[in-house]
Amino acid sequence: MKIILPLENLQYDFPVPDQLDGLHHDSIAKICPFCLRLWAIIQVKSKHFSIQGTCCLPCWTPARILPLYAQFPGSLLDDCSRMGVQWELIEHFPQELVQREFKVHLKVFA
Ligand SMILES: [Zn+2]
Repeated sequence: MKIILPLENLQYDFPVPDQLDGLHHDSIAKICPFCLRLWAIIQVKSKHFSIQGTCCLPCWTPARILPLYAQFPGSLLDDCSRMGVQWELIEHFPQELVQREFKVHLKVFA
């Protein structure tokens, strides 16, 4: 699985078990509905991309948690096409991405 965070200039490439790759129907490109920036690319093998409109971290405010968008803005685990957070992936994430997810989720509850 390859994850690219263009706004943060970060890129990760790490293995996940085949059954977890199967969780994703598509590779995902996350575009913020407020600033229209591509903020995350989640590439799963050679699967084609679906585009998700989910809020990026810089645009997030408490008022911008909308049912149609991710409940955890900036989260790589929050998959609006599957209506939930893909917690199964986190144990395979590099440590830096685990820490990033922790901060993203704390921000919503702070
Ligand atoms: Zn944005």
